[in-house]
Amino acid sequence: MSNKELDGLRNQLDDVNLQLLHLINQRAELVQEIGRVKEKQGVNRYDPVRERTMLDLIEANHQGPLDLGSIKHIFKEIFKLGLELQKDDQKKTLLVSRKQKSEDTIIDIKGELIGNGIPSFVFGPCAVESYEQTAAVAEVIKAKGLKLMRGGAYKPRTSPYDFQGLGLEGLQILKRVADEYGLAVISEIVSANDIEAAVEHIDVIQIGARNMQNFDLLKAAGAVNKPVLLKRGLAATIEEFIHAAEYIMSQGNGNIILCERGIRTYEKATRNTLDISAVPILKQETHLPVMVDVTHSTGRRDLLLPTAKAALAIGADGVMAEVHPDPSVALSDSAQQMDFKQFDEFYEEIKRLNWVTV
Ligand code: PEP
Ligand code: MN
Repeated sequence: MSNKELDGLRNQLDDVNLQLLHLINQRAELVQEIGRVKEKQGVNRYDPVRERTMLDLIEANHQGPLDLGSIKHIFKEIFKLGLELQKDDQKKTLLVSRKQKSEDTIIDIKGELIGNGIPSFVFGPCAVESYEQTAAVAEVIKAKGLKLMRGGAYKPRTSPYDFQGLGLEGLQILKRVADEYGLAVISEIVSANDIEAAVEHIDVIQIGARNMQNFDLLKAAGAVNKPVLLKRGLAATIEEFIHAAEYIMSQGNGNIILCERGIRTYEKATRNTLDISAVPILKQETHLPVMVDVTHSTGRRDLLLPTAKAALAIGADGVMAEVHPDPSVALSDSAQQMDFKQFDEFYEEIKRLNWVTV
């Protein structure tokens, strides 16, 4: 065979490759278009019956020289590519996704901006136990020039015999304290029925780890005009966490703060394992602000400061930690809440490292 002949054949092969490339991409475009039509009609994208018909048609028309098994394998791979492309399309349409909105979402909570590049801090007791206890913490928070306070009124406890929180009375105490001290309050709501009471009494609705996939609750919180702090579930993947936020946003409420609070692993040295890399991942994948709860992720007072520093260094928009006037008699989480002296030391160190602008 002359070199000229060989070159000619190679040129033909290149042409065929380019045609295949073109055809595969043309097929992908058609699959995308079909996906859009199906979405409009509300029908499922993957249709196994249709895939069988396509394979049968290919089989009936196959003439060789390649063997049929390999041809079917190649086509199945091409079908798979099409499906993956549709999945990517679905991902792109998530309202919380960075692909949907490239600018950071900034949430205004009574003038405190979350997600504007300056870290915010949420301190307060695990549970609201009384007016006096809550007001005592509020006073210390206010004295530091801070604005945000937390306190649980409905406590999701492992045992039904443990303190369950003061309920509505707890929300009323929070409102009174917020008004008296000029603070904004964050409190967990565990039932969709209590969302209305939350709107009246508090500034941010917290949805806790145990309720991250309580879809009725997520939808109810999404239907009101009140910021939501959504905690990552005990064993939730980042993808599940993002989809939980999507439940809220899909109802119209885009004021969502994501909160990494540790996940359950087989490590027992800490209460949970703080997934610090979740912070930059969530910030890349979504446009929402991301906070880190150092109390529930570690369950250890001695780790609050190091993990808070890590959270801030990795780009968290804020840190949450529990503070109680007398942790040893706290009705919940007594092992890891800070007393006022520890709180002072914690916050002084954060200030010394220039994480605070006030
Ligand atoms: C809380 O913040 O009070 C709480 C119970 O946290 P989590 O839902 O993260 O366990
Ligand atoms: Mn707690």
